Amino acid sequence: MSTYVSVNKEACIACGSCNSVAPDIFDLDDDGIAEVIYEGDKNQGITIISQDLQEELQEAIESCPTQCILLAEVPFA
Ligand code: SF4
Repeated sequence: MSTYVSVNKEACIACGSCNSVAPDIFDLDDDGIAEVIYEGDKNQGITIISQDLQEELQEAIESCPTQCILLAEVPFA
C-alpha cells in the first residue's frame, strides 16, 4: 500500500509537533505552518513516503492536535 501525505495548512495551528516527531517528512514555513518537505514534495502529497518512515509518520499524525495531516493511498494531485 502506498502512502501519500499532505498538511491541510488552513487547519494547522503551527504547534511544531509533526516537525519534531518526523523532521524528514515535515518542516515549518516562515509562518510556522507545517508542510510536507519529503523529497521536495512541497506539500503536494504526490510523493510516496518510504516504508522506513511509516512509524514516524504515524507518530506525527497522532501528535497533531488538529488532525490536519491528511493521508491517502493515491496522490493528492
Ligand atoms: S502537528 Fe499538526 S497542527 Fe502541529 S504543526 Fe504539525 S500539522 Fe500543524
